[in-house]
Amino acid sequence: MDRRTFCRTIARCTAWAAVAPFAGPSVRPAGASTLSFEKGFIQAKASPYYTPLGNGRIRCVLCPRKCEVDPGERGYCEVRENRDGVYYTLVYGNPCAVHVDPVEKKPFFHVLPGSRSFSLATAGCNLDCKFCQNWEISQARPENTQNVRLSPEDVVTLAAQYGCASVASTYVEPTIFMEYMTDIGAAASKAGILNVMHSNGFVNPGPLNDLIPHLQAACIDLKSIRDDYYREMTEGWLEPVLNTLRQLKKHRVHTELVTLLVPGRNDSAKEIRDLSRWVLTELGEDTPVHFSRFYPRYKLQSLPPTPVETLERARETAMTEGLRFVYIGNVPGHPGEHTYCPKCRAMVIRRAGYTVQLTAFEHGRCTCCGTALPGVWTNPLKPSEASATS
Ligand code: SF4
Repeated sequence: MDRRTFCRTIARCTAWAAVAPFAGPSVRPAGASTLSFEKGFIQAKASPYYTPLGNGRIRCVLCPRKCEVDPGERGYCEVRENRDGVYYTLVYGNPCAVHVDPVEKKPFFHVLPGSRSFSLATAGCNLDCKFCQNWEISQARPENTQNVRLSPEDVVTLAAQYGCASVASTYVEPTIFMEYMTDIGAAASKAGILNVMHSNGFVNPGPLNDLIPHLQAACIDLKSIRDDYYREMTEGWLEPVLNTLRQLKKHRVHTELVTLLVPGRNDSAKEIRDLSRWVLTELGEDTPVHFSRFYPRYKLQSLPPTPVETLERARETAMTEGLRFVYIGNVPGHPGEHTYCPKCRAMVIRRAGYTVQLTAFEHGRCTCCGTALPGVWTNPLKPSEASATS
């Protein structure tokens, strides 16, 4: 047993109570009495994302880690296994978390506001962030979570049944179940339902290219603009994340950014300025950015929550640099949750937690001055329909 596996085993044992919210009936969408969760249920499906290296050894090409894996072994994310020289995903069609959420929880503030998103995750992740909020499943092997059999078509059927405008792959790093997410996207498009994800962006360009035709919006964690922060806090590195953002921009996928501000780690004025300038230059002034409040979790229990003033300062700095839509996250009721018209400054969308009210917004425009705001305000898969709330 290597050090990573050992640490995960210990962590899982000490956190059984915390796993419970993701286990069994509590993860069902309300009324979904037919969903049946089973401890350790997994389905193996051959992945297209690997290269044979000879003698049964393979290299995974899904994410920048490029794990080289011997027969019988798994890659870093622990959801991909080499079986006699063929690399399998073990999480295709067996999510361990299934919820109906407001789309604002992802958080998407510029995608069909007020709509429902059918949200799911499997076990596993390709990073190990010290502040992970969902580490009980992100750092688990799929045989240690309660999973449900749910084909892409089943996902879409349930999403429609629950009145969801989108399916969101979220909670853990969804690109580790890339094959599943892509097939969900293809099935969802046929039903006029959006496919969206909240991702760490730590993925290779080839697999991302396969997903993009079936992806209508992405929320990407830009955890910091410093490579050393990524290496110390996440076991990943920065450049692939920046490349993912450039690729999404190039393909015009609506993208929102989330930066969790960890006290004393990534919240200096210089870092916020550098991050804002990168976003402005590479992605543009219309990219929504969410500065999110940290709460002590997982390996960072000793730090305090982010002071609200720190978040307010970061928002002010980013807007001074020229970003037009900067939000404060994880502080319900804060005025930094609302959307303001960048021209006349009218509050166009009011948010209080997950309660959303279009105060001066119709058909993607400010009703006070007519300015168009960037976002997915109507369903592009159903051009004749307006958004659920417009
Ligand atoms: S997806 Fe998993 S197995 Fe593949 S390279 Fe990344 S961490 Fe390794």
